[in-house]
Amino acid sequence: MANKKKFYVTTAIDYPNAEPHIGHAYQKIIADVIARWHKLKGEDVFFLTGTDEHGKKIQEASEKQGKTPKEFVDELSKRFKESWKLLNIDYNRFIRTTDKDHEKIVQDIIKKCEENGDIYLGEYEGLYCTGCEAYYTEKDLIDGCCPIHKRKVEKLKEESYFFRLSNYQKFLLDLFKKHPEFILPKERRNEIISRVKEGLSDLSISRTSFDWGIPFPGNKKHVVYVWFDALFNYYSATQQKGKEKYWPADIHLLGKDNSWFHCVYWPAFLKSAGLKLPKTVFVHGFLQFNGQKISKSLGNAISPKILVGKYGADSIRYFVCRQFPFGDDGDFSEAALIQRHNDELANKLGNLVSRVSALAEKYGFEEFNYPITIEKKWEKYIREGKIEVKKILSLNPDKTIHVFNRKNEQGEESLLFDSYFQLRPTLRLICNLVEYQVEHSQFDKALNTIFAFIDNCNNFIQNKKIWESEDKRALYELKESILEIARLLSPFIPESAEKIKKQFSAKKMKKGDILFEKI
Ligand code: ZN
Repeated sequence: MANKKKFYVTTAIDYPNAEPHIGHAYQKIIADVIARWHKLKGEDVFFLTGTDEHGKKIQEASEKQGKTPKEFVDELSKRFKESWKLLNIDYNRFIRTTDKDHEKIVQDIIKKCEENGDIYLGEYEGLYCTGCEAYYTEKDLIDGCCPIHKRKVEKLKEESYFFRLSNYQKFLLDLFKKHPEFILPKERRNEIISRVKEGLSDLSISRTSFDWGIPFPGNKKHVVYVWFDALFNYYSATQQKGKEKYWPADIHLLGKDNSWFHCVYWPAFLKSAGLKLPKTVFVHGFLQFNGQKISKSLGNAISPKILVGKYGADSIRYFVCRQFPFGDDGDFSEAALIQRHNDELANKLGNLVSRVSALAEKYGFEEFNYPITIEKKWEKYIREGKIEVKKILSLNPDKTIHVFNRKNEQGEESLLFDSYFQLRPTLRLICNLVEYQVEHSQFDKALNTIFAFIDNCNNFIQNKKIWESEDKRALYELKESILEIARLLSPFIPESAEKIKKQFSAKKMKKGDILFEKI
């Protein structure tokens, strides 16, 4: 246990001023896939999600409903938790920025930054967007409106504590240069670098115009700026007994609207507080829903609960990972989801599982094993990202990938070349490729690779007419391949993968229930 490699993944913490929707869910699904993948590798994983509960926007939303802010966030954070449960999001902690341990840590950190000379009291006048909980300068605005919320900003003037962000320009540019993996994908990194090069002003980190926030240490008139408060959730979650080893985070996932806060403020705050920096901040795009921008006007249609009821958690998880590259904007199209559910999950995977289990129930299988050797160059190409799945499947494995020895009855070693021997060596290369793709956040490609192999298995059954040959060894190879497919798919579609695993691990296999009913 002590030697296990640790892995720490976080999601953005959501602002619970409205019900969760599929856009929130998308990021949590990806984080869950990443967490499950690292668990599969035997790593000691910590997966954090939660809600960001302070700020003016929450205070205003709660007043509209005649509730206290605390009552308001208690109810809504529960809805987020319920949705993640329905989607099988298997997090380790759901942090709320109103949690007592977090509030205390934020105050301690502010004192630390103050001691380091990075915080001073001044006066701020600026253009404020309550939607973003952030000040803008004239040049950031589009027609006088917030570039994200497209609504008028307010002119605010208040006494404020400032963080000396202007002192961190060189530190940040050095960081981005020395650690290109700090901001991914690289297009986002380039955007941030050019903005940081334009110069950084000091950042207002306290508010006096409302009181729903963490009290600023040493000055009761002020509450801590919500972003200073929120960003430290990632750190405070690791400050409980036994959790310290997880800091710093290996990957923070966040939407593109949060990139400036995470790529610029966050490393500067951490540096000032004397804390280690995370390895990677991964910025992803936004989802649309059936071609429309996700917004309240879409109502219940975008609720994870409703969607899980319609399609099941695994189909939704599969679809958002498969349909668009992670990082880009994407469209959650229900028509496209149904098509992938039917064509890929039901017809390809479901069919393979049902055919092989039916044949194995009828004929049984004969267990046998043989050593697999794969020419080193193929594994090397995969590790370096130089090979495509098509190339693997078009290799002639009998001649080029593997040589396997098997002892005959006389104890002599002999080379065997028989077609079903192709399955496992090919699968070994497929596993390597999937690993490369998942670890480079290419979830769509990883699923494509797995399904190319599933196609191969289906073709193999068809071409060899396994149902006529009653070949028990070929059935054994197929069974083992399907178990491996289930293992590779388990981070993406955990419920179905678990069903397959149970069914195919049994000594006497039975043709189970249909895995995916067609829609
Ligand atoms: Zn805004």
